[in-house]
Amino acid sequence: MIDLKKLELWFVVGSQELYGDEALRKIEQNAAKVTSELDNASAIPVRICFKGILTTSGEITKLCKEASSDDRVVGLICWMHTFSPAKMWINGLKRITKPILHLHTQFNQDIPWESIDMDYMNLHQSAHGGREFGFIGSRLDIRRKVVVGHWSEDEVQYKIGVWTRAACGWSEMQSMRIARFGDNMRDVAVTEGDKVEAQIRFGFEVNGYGMGDLVACVKSATEKEIDSLIQQYLILYDIVSELRPEGERYQELRDAASIEVGLRNFLNEGKFSAFTDTFENLKGLKQLPGIAVQRLMNEGYGFGAEGDWKAAALVRVIKVMSAGLDGGTSFMEDYTYHFGPKSELVMGSHMLEICPSLSKGKPFCEIHPLSIGGKSDPVRLVFDSKAGHALNISLIDLGSRFRLLVNKVESVEIEQKLPKLPVARVFWKPLPDLKNAASAWILSGGSHHTCYSLSLDISHIEDFAEMAGVELIVIDEETNVRQLKKELLWNERVFD
Ligand code: MN
Repeated sequence: MIDLKKLELWFVVGSQELYGDEALRKIEQNAAKVTSELDNASAIPVRICFKGILTTSGEITKLCKEASSDDRVVGLICWMHTFSPAKMWINGLKRITKPILHLHTQFNQDIPWESIDMDYMNLHQSAHGGREFGFIGSRLDIRRKVVVGHWSEDEVQYKIGVWTRAACGWSEMQSMRIARFGDNMRDVAVTEGDKVEAQIRFGFEVNGYGMGDLVACVKSATEKEIDSLIQQYLILYDIVSELRPEGERYQELRDAASIEVGLRNFLNEGKFSAFTDTFENLKGLKQLPGIAVQRLMNEGYGFGAEGDWKAAALVRVIKVMSAGLDGGTSFMEDYTYHFGPKSELVMGSHMLEICPSLSKGKPFCEIHPLSIGGKSDPVRLVFDSKAGHALNISLIDLGSRFRLLVNKVESVEIEQKLPKLPVARVFWKPLPDLKNAASAWILSGGSHHTCYSLSLDISHIEDFAEMAGVELIVIDEETNVRQLKKELLWNERVFD
């Protein structure tokens, strides 16, 4: 469902006519080589397309307009190989609507101590050419990423890759459509918000649909479609005997599969890439969607429970940003604490809807009662999560603006079997520690619903927040609650 290789970064190189044709030919050769190396770099997930040496205001403006109107383009990488007088860039940069990465590099890594002369210096003057470009970016107040270092270094390519993934997420947000089945869980505050403001700020559309629309799709699921899903379930999951074709509750597995068929068909027809539901509004559905939601998330759809469209948007964006990386990404909720004196843990879970991309092994497919919602027992996938570095990310609406929060956590495997727990579960230690992380999260107003990812670093979220122009609160090993309270206070003045 997510193929980042369809997307492009345009690589543009600034220079000027002053140095003559021979120098420009050399610059072009160098730029083509850098482009080709970056295009082949495993850290960068999209195609990198060389768009030539730009030496006039007209060329720059034309390219910026083209990039802005091409849906495949997620951003521009700009490199000033020589000195490119920056007044030439004003009209173009005023028109560009895509994120910009200023690659402050130089073709040759080392100074050739014995042979360096004036010609060499003319060709290798990124050190000051990049500063001229930096000035005009600041003068125009353009948010951009600056990456410094030789283009062949792993660290440089990694930073470009991180920013590229953020740009892919940002690009996705501009056309994302989110379907809501039912409204918000009644009386819940944090899952509410201003959907018009969200579309203005982030680009994604959120629209509501009656359950009847979804139920019609579920009812039109064919026996063949259901059979085909059951075949997949039998291969992919360890299905409890009562749900197997010979078991007494097999029909309930088929009911769950029909919900999956209906949901997928509805989402495909409407070109939706994320959705929400709520257990308070299930009229016409036999079960709260469990395995259906879990499997759709695993395919790359965003999801938010209880009408949480902000969580649904985040899950989809993080799925796009992490496409092709190890780990996994899911809708998540901070559920239950272990305030053990020696080892403090958070258990993350939900009623049903945790994405099996997190699963350590083959998930179990089980059926258990749900104590709320008043429907038949829902079928769900139950599993333990992989361990590793992870993030919990939340987007909240403060009324006058949005705030993005991210907490770095360390997910761990536990020895206990939890034989009576009927849902997928994740255990993590938040950084800097549970007490400070939870204090910081609560003081910042972070939601109980999050997007949890084993695939990304804080830097991905930082780059994304910068592109979106949204406040970011980071809770990690350096967080100090006293300092964080000041940051929140200062940010109120800056962002409101
Ligand atoms: Mn919830």
